[in-house]
Amino acid sequence: MSDCLFCKIVAKEIPAEIVYETGRTLAFRDINPQAPTHALVIPKAHHADAAALAAADDGLADEVLKTAHEVAVIDGVSEGGYRIVFNTGAAAGQTVFHVHAHILGGRDLTWPPG
Ligand code: ADP
Repeated sequence: MSDCLFCKIVAKEIPAEIVYETGRTLAFRDINPQAPTHALVIPKAHHADAAALAAADDGLADEVLKTAHEVAVIDGVSEGGYRIVFNTGAAAGQTVFHVHAHILGGRDLTWPPG
């Protein structure tokens, strides 16, 4: 989508600090980190939210989760514990409507989130 921020990152029209990349997924650092590890994992193909990604039913959701775990391994937080968050819909705080998993780690994470 031409007006989608994360599609522009995929197209390298907007810079991002890439952490890891597969054929169909991209992981990059969040521009406003909320924890020592805060990366976003997206499918390169545009899907608005987690529900749309799941509905595609083509293995892409699995690949996003595998890339999320790889980010945790790269940052050394996979054994201590980390959080994967899909804010889904405006009421949940989603502001960028290209599905993305937040990978948060490197500090104690409280529950419930705000
Ligand atoms: P929220 O903005 O409430 O966290 P989302 O779950 O939709 O809502 O997350 C969007 C995320 O994208 C935010 O954490 C924001 O900091 C991040 N972000 C916005 N623009 C960029 C960018 N150019 N590069 C990296 N991260 C970005």
